[in-house]
Amino acid sequence: MAVSPSLIAALRGARGRCPACGKGRLFAGYLKQTGACAACGAATGEIEAEDGPPWLTVLLLGPLLAALTFIAARHETWPLWIRLAGLGTFAVAAVLMLLPRIKGGLIGVLWGMRERS
Ligand SMILES: [Zn+2]
Repeated sequence: MAVSPSLIAALRGARGRCPACGKGRLFAGYLKQTGACAACGAATGEIEAEDGPPWLTVLLLGPLLAALTFIAARHETWPLWIRLAGLGTFAVAAVLMLLPRIKGGLIGVLWGMRERS
């Protein structure tokens, strides 16, 4: 079974690598894209994911955080401040961890779609 080039590009992007070659870095900072790949010269900076990454991050984490909030609300043996601090810390950490991966993956998908057309 052949793996789709778009899937390969998305996985490379999710790892923070160039969707074209998988070697160069996709980001110069936390979310700031490089203009072009240092390894192959692909113009990955031309691809803009716009509001897609935050939207997809909220879409993925929202149901999980809602479920965790309900679970934490039922465990009244723990003090409220511990539950709130734990949920808040988890939410911030999960967003900070997922956002660049989702942005990279989305850029990879867009790169794969552009290469196909
Ligand atoms: Zn490259």
